[in-house]
Amino acid sequence: MFTHNLGYPRIGANRELKKACENYWAGKISEKELLDAGKRERHKNWTIQKEFGIDLIPCNDFSFYDHVQDMTFMLGVIPERFRSLKEKLSNIDIYFAMSRGYQKGNFDVTAMEMTKWFDTNYHYIVPEFVKNQEFLFQNKKVIDEFLEAKSFGIENPKPVLIGPVSYLMSGKEKEPDFNKLELIESLLPEYINILKELETHGCEYVQVDEPFLVTGFSAKISSIYNYVFREINKKVPKLKLILATYFGDLSENTELAVNLPIHALHIDLVKGVNQINEILSKIPNNLNLSLGIIDGRNIWINDLQQSLNLISKVKYKISENRILIAPSCSLLHVPYNLESEEKLPPDIKRWMAFGKQKIEELIVLKELSFENPSKKAVAKLILNEQDIISRKISEKTNNALVKKKVEGISDNDFKRKATFTERIEIQKKKLNLPLFPTTTIGSFPQTADIRKKRLDYKKGLISAIEYESFLKDETQETINWQEKAGLDVLVHGEFERNDMVEYFGEQLEGFIFTENGWVQSYGSRGVKPPVIFGDVWRKEPMTVKWSEFAQSMTSKKVKGMLTGPVTILQWSFVRNDQPRKTTAFQIALALKDEVLDLEKAGIEIIQIDEPALREGLPLKKKEWPDYLVWAVKAFRMTCSEVKNETQVHTHMCYAEFNDIIDSIIEMDADVITIETSRSQMELMEAFKKCGYPNQIGPGVYDIHSPRIPSVEEMEGLIEKAMKYIPLENLWINPDCGLKTRGWEEVKPAIENMVKAAIRLRQKVSVEI
Ligand code: GLN
Ligand code: ZN
Repeated sequence: MFTHNLGYPRIGANRELKKACENYWAGKISEKELLDAGKRERHKNWTIQKEFGIDLIPCNDFSFYDHVQDMTFMLGVIPERFRSLKEKLSNIDIYFAMSRGYQKGNFDVTAMEMTKWFDTNYHYIVPEFVKNQEFLFQNKKVIDEFLEAKSFGIENPKPVLIGPVSYLMSGKEKEPDFNKLELIESLLPEYINILKELETHGCEYVQVDEPFLVTGFSAKISSIYNYVFREINKKVPKLKLILATYFGDLSENTELAVNLPIHALHIDLVKGVNQINEILSKIPNNLNLSLGIIDGRNIWINDLQQSLNLISKVKYKISENRILIAPSCSLLHVPYNLESEEKLPPDIKRWMAFGKQKIEELIVLKELSFENPSKKAVAKLILNEQDIISRKISEKTNNALVKKKVEGISDNDFKRKATFTERIEIQKKKLNLPLFPTTTIGSFPQTADIRKKRLDYKKGLISAIEYESFLKDETQETINWQEKAGLDVLVHGEFERNDMVEYFGEQLEGFIFTENGWVQSYGSRGVKPPVIFGDVWRKEPMTVKWSEFAQSMTSKKVKGMLTGPVTILQWSFVRNDQPRKTTAFQIALALKDEVLDLEKAGIEIIQIDEPALREGLPLKKKEWPDYLVWAVKAFRMTCSEVKNETQVHTHMCYAEFNDIIDSIIEMDADVITIETSRSQMELMEAFKKCGYPNQIGPGVYDIHSPRIPSVEEMEGLIEKAMKYIPLENLWINPDCGLKTRGWEEVKPAIENMVKAAIRLRQKVSVEI
């Protein structure tokens, strides 16, 4: 039996890569210093895995920004608009320009689109394909990393590559009249060139990731898979391909996958635990099987005995030397190292495992499956059994009161008092907003100053009073600025919040927080998901004080600002010992109390963000309805009891919304603000088609880019939106919150946005 790993977290145990990238972008370090920083992180990761004794250690799982973008860059899929940068910039700068946009001198190029990687909170950069797309293996990152790993002393480095079909599937057609899958003809030879070149350098194993295999698809795609892997096998027959599938079970694609001419098939036995029987019944004699047995998506310890039972079952059917064991997917989605956590409650900490601990679990499993396992390994098994039991029976995971409340939920808990048509008339009178009301999504820049004050406060260097009065000043200043800028609906700025989920988790029962449990979200951005270990309830109001304070500063309306139940769930590490739906309902009940308290405090507009509702969608279509029904219910539960005149907003961003438009309608928020600027309003067509009845604010300012959009540009986008959405239903706002930007960008951008709204109001009134 072999152990292998599908990918190690790459941001650095202390987010070294983030710091290096951001320093490089700020011109504080040189390109060489950046490259060296990357190298240091790769070496550290290889060292850890080597010391534990992992048999096949991955390489090319590192990336300076995104591994899909790396593939795009390696294959020379450079969108036209970046070509002119070639003479001006170094390779890595073009790569960053494609990922982040580029605005300097005469150049003003928008970034490539970004979207979520399957049902994770990792964002990848979407490849852009044109009809006659050419592919050319021009950047040799994977070769370089393979050679680097070898010379570092890794015996058999296993390069990780996104598979050709999944690569095409993850991209987008930028021209009409062709299907991206047709490009396989031109892509495949270059893909094979990569494999050949790896082989020339002595590479033996390659991990080809084809997560699309778990999504369920047409017969046509099956035949493409067959074609692709047979071609590869013909051209590089000696290379041992480990085809990695993850994030679910293969179900209808099992037959296809087990019969591909590959060395080994990796299956996810955490998300797709039930597939093992079918796999074992269909597996041909010459195929090796990699068991994805350690959860690569969550932070709970492995139930070692359960895993051993599974391994024995497989051993019964296929010989031991055909079995590999691994995490279910890349460890990109879990934090680095639990050891560095010093403040977790000791009992709960014992229930948890991060990246490094998962690698250790893998090794322990291998040792335990020897005929005569070492005493040390057996001792670890016994400890593990104790931890599993202590979690099951702990009162922290069993709160009778909360459980009873969830059982008492009925259909009435999901209904607002009147229909949207009735509500909006009442709200118009009450709120008295102009045509094309302008607003922002909630957060304003989290400046270095704010972060420092928060840290000082956390460290006890400044008092709670001092911290609070600082936050009040920031809030007040921002309210004043928004008034001056001419925005119609204001926000308090979220300065008191570190993160939109963490902030709520910190105040809710059932959550704990790590000090250093970062995972990559996109590029240099990380998130530190809270851990939901137990039953969730609200002890006291969480946001009322800030909303009330901000509202008292102005005669304009200030939006209350909450994170929705599905997003809190989605962006946390959720307990895996009860259905997600139950946890979502517990959170919804807690938020409902908060909504009603905000209303009582005189807040007339309340935004409940659900940017992650889409990413919670199961990968298989047949599982969608069940999820969507409970997710929408959870959202509706938070605001079902508010008065008709209280306007409920929601916000969503960075995902494919076309698929879930019906559920967005079902959510029945009075207003939805939604990210659209990177895709140039494409989404609005879908909203038109389904006759979206409520109000919409399509984003006109791409906040993931440092570019400042001009008045004309935003005006153009709104005019585009006007083709799809009735005027009186349109709001004007950025794509998302502004916390990641600097004031020097935000101020002119928002001022331009308000100007665009004013111009349009004038235009429209002239036309009428
Ligand atoms: N209200 C949040 C903010 O503005 C929403 C962020 C998000 O959509 N991710 O920061
Ligand atoms: Zn957003």
